[in-house]
Amino acid sequence: MSDIDAMKAQLDEIRQQALDAFAAAEDSDALQALKVKYLGKKGELTGVLKGVGGLSVEDRPRIGQVVNRIKAELEQAIEASSSVLEAKAGEARVAAERIDVSLPGRNRPRGALHPVQQGLDEMAAIFEHLGFEIAEGPEIETEFHNFDALNIPPEHPARAMHDTFFLRDTEDDEPMLLRTHTSPVQIRAMQRFVAEGHEPPLAVVAPGRVYRCDSDVTHSPMFHQVEVFKVDRDVSMAHLKGVLQYFLSAYFEKEVPIRLRPHYFPFTEPSAEVDIGCVFCSGKGCRICKGSGWLEVLGSGMIHPNVLRSVDIDTSIYSGFAFGLGVERLVMLKHGIPDLRLFFENDVRFLRRMGA
Ligand SMILES: [Zn+2]
Repeated sequence: MSDIDAMKAQLDEIRQQALDAFAAAEDSDALQALKVKYLGKKGELTGVLKGVGGLSVEDRPRIGQVVNRIKAELEQAIEASSSVLEAKAGEARVAAERIDVSLPGRNRPRGALHPVQQGLDEMAAIFEHLGFEIAEGPEIETEFHNFDALNIPPEHPARAMHDTFFLRDTEDDEPMLLRTHTSPVQIRAMQRFVAEGHEPPLAVVAPGRVYRCDSDVTHSPMFHQVEVFKVDRDVSMAHLKGVLQYFLSAYFEKEVPIRLRPHYFPFTEPSAEVDIGCVFCSGKGCRICKGSGWLEVLGSGMIHPNVLRSVDIDTSIYSGFAFGLGVERLVMLKHGIPDLRLFFENDVRFLRRMGA
């Protein structure tokens, strides 16, 4: 076989290999690599041309023609494979992005505020509407703020009745405790008010968590209170009763009769327990109100002068009323919830039913 025939055979072999390889390429990257392999500057076709120097002068252009023809054929073949691959990729993309519009929507479960938080928000909003300012205080308190300043001196029996969680890990500092009511916020708010050089009126609503060492159907070691007070000139029981009447009717979303019964609290004088007409039987008497037609809802009174004195408010000029209510108690009455513990068991069935 002459040199030129051998070269032609070699070229033909390369051509066939290349065509097979192009047809089998799986994607355009692979195809691009094959293009370099066969048609590139250091590719196989160019490699064959290096041997052209050994040919006779008249054979050289003939081989050149063969190489150009194969080159053109291979370029065409690459073009064709490339369109096939692109079409395939397009189909794959369409298939991957296909949306079945007949599928049912994905239902995202919606969260809701905890019923106690809902109650707190509703209550605070009613007092804000009346012009009361929201205040908060620490849950870890001093004995001074939780007891002494509220006219509950160390020997006072009310102190023992509070079932207090004490925190005694500080050696020489004042013992700390988990606040047993939100009333210490009353002291802190008045102290801050006086320290900033203000003169009453001062009207505050203080919602928050409180703690007592107590747990049964109607008691939880952690529960929520809202403390409400107002200090001004000539504040009387009539103002207290007016605010209570407004608040309770707004919260229960209907006119509820209220009554004040004389009571004793160390931090108010006079003091009164507040009852509302039973929201279940409208006062006719039922199992829940034990036949009386009334439900006890909160404690109230005129702020004891000793409390005002403890924060340097002049009791010859100013007086005030205060009351504190149990949030869980009112939410239970409003929604007919039988057991306090439902609030803290985190059973989603209950929470979902209560979710607004
Ligand atoms: Zn009743």
